[in-house]
This record gives sequence, C-alpha cells and structure tokens, in this order.
Amino acid sequence: MATKCFAGQTALVTGATTGIGRATALALAARGVRVWINHRDQHDLAQRLVEQITANGGNAWAIEADVSDPAAVAAMFETIEEQGPLDLLVNNAGVILEKPFLETSEADWALVLGVDLAGVYRCCRHALVQMKPRRNGAIVNVASDLGFLGREQYVAYCTAKAGVIGLTRSLAREFAIDGIRINGVAPGPIATAMVSPEHMSDEWMAKELAIPMARLGTPEEVAAAIVFLLSPQASYFTGQMLGPNGGSWMGA
Ligand code: NAD
Repeated sequence: MATKCFAGQTALVTGATTGIGRATALALAARGVRVWINHRDQHDLAQRLVEQITANGGNAWAIEADVSDPAAVAAMFETIEEQGPLDLLVNNAGVILEKPFLETSEADWALVLGVDLAGVYRCCRHALVQMKPRRNGAIVNVASDLGFLGREQYVAYCTAKAGVIGLTRSLAREFAIDGIRINGVAPGPIATAMVSPEHMSDEWMAKELAIPMARLGTPEEVAAAIVFLLSPQASYFTGQMLGPNGGSWMGA
C-alpha cells in the first residue's frame, strides 16, 4: 500500500548521508521514491549511499549544499527543478552545540541558528515556490523534543528547534489551502553521531536515558515517523509534531 502511494515521487532529504537522514533516504527509496541525497562536503558517503540505493533497484542522486548558505541552497533547488518536480522535502540537516549560555558567542549562535533554523526556513521557501503552483507537496521538518523541553548548556540548539516547531505550524496554516502538508518530528535521544558517548558528556547521556523507555531510539524509528507524515496515509495531518521519543515529552 505504502509502496504504491509513494512510487515515482521525488524527495529531497537534507543532511542525508548519516543518522536519521540516511535512514529516511533508505526508507523512502525502498518505497519507490526517487531521492536527492543532500550533504555538506561528504562526497564519498553520499556516493556510497546512492550506490546502495541504486543496487537495491532505487533511484538517488547526491547533491552538495551547505543549508546555511543561501546561494548554495538556491543552486541546489535550481538543479533539482531542472530534473523534474519535487514532491517531498525532509529538512533533517542539523548541528548541535553544548556550551554554557554565557560562553555562547555571537558566532556560535549564528552557526547553530544558521543551520538548524535558517536552513529549514530557506529550504522550505525554495521548495514551496516549486510546490505551490502544482498544488502538491509534503514537507517534514526535524525538530527535537528539546524544542519543547529546553536544556541547560544547549540554549542555541533548543531555541533553533523551538523555532522549527513554530515555523512548521505557521507554514502548515499558510499552505493548507494550496494542498501542501507541512509537519515535523520532535525526536528524543536517538543513537547517531550527534548523540553518542564519544561526543556527549556523561551528564548528558545520563539525562538522555532518564526517560520512560530508558533507551536511545534508532534512526529507523524516526524515519518511520517521517515516512508516515510524508505519505498519503497522513493526508489529514498538517502542522503536527510527531514524537518518536521514548516518552521524553508527551505534551504535544
Ligand atoms: P547526524 O549528525 O548524523 O546528522 C546531521 C546531518 O546534518 C549530518 O549528515 C551532517 O553532515 C548534516 N549537516 C550538518 N550541517 C549541515 C549543513 N550546514 N548543510 C547540510 N548538511 C549539514 O545526527 P542525527 O541525529 O541524524 O541528526 C539529524 C537531525 O535530527 C538533526 O536536525 C538533529 O538536530 C535532529 N535530532 C537528533 C536527535 C538525536 O538524538 N540524535 C534528537 C532530536 C533531533
């Protein structure tokens, strides 16, 4: 059922070479979606993913663009449009920064907000320019449970993710009339490069695991929520934040 619904559509997944983005690209490709694999300077990883998808009978292309760079994003969407209509967008690219607020510099703030919030704004705008005249499209923005909860030492990240939630809900209201659905996921702690014992302090890991399910989620568990929201099965969903989060946040 899901396979038929999706077949032949084209998706762009940002930050698609690792973690949640990679799992999402693979899950979409397995359902017959043609996938643009966005990356920032990860040519080998992107090429390997394209080859993996192609070997499994799917279609994928790698496309480089730093989502915090307006010109690079404009060029990426131009290239995609030249190849055909874009039906689906997953704004997944993100960076995280652990720093006490009083040590968070203007440059730190600009970096995190530039990727995690402005990158989402920018890709949504370019995608919606293409989707609106065709009255077709679905977007999923990857926020975080921390966008609801907040977290000390992660003020820039939590602010950006809270912004993604507001952006998603506002766009959903504005573009519902155009037949375009815009939703988000707000994952809890997921086992990726971003949240691993090598990169995170013991204190962070202890906090991350102090949730009802007491384990990290997998990228595939988040990808399943993203695929659902993009699919025609979610035809009455817009402006929603699904929470694959092990129970870390139950409020929305
Ligand atoms: P990840 O580090 O594997 O993935 C992030 C991806 O974004 C990487 O491939 C990275 O290269 C890419 N990226 C970073 N900056 C970029 C830029 N400027 N332009 C293009 N690509 C860029 O980690 P992940 O956990 O898979 O993260 C994916 C998304 O999920 C992020 O938005 C993250 O904030 C969100 N998230 C993760 C967790 C978690 O616990 N892992 C929880 C909630 C939300």
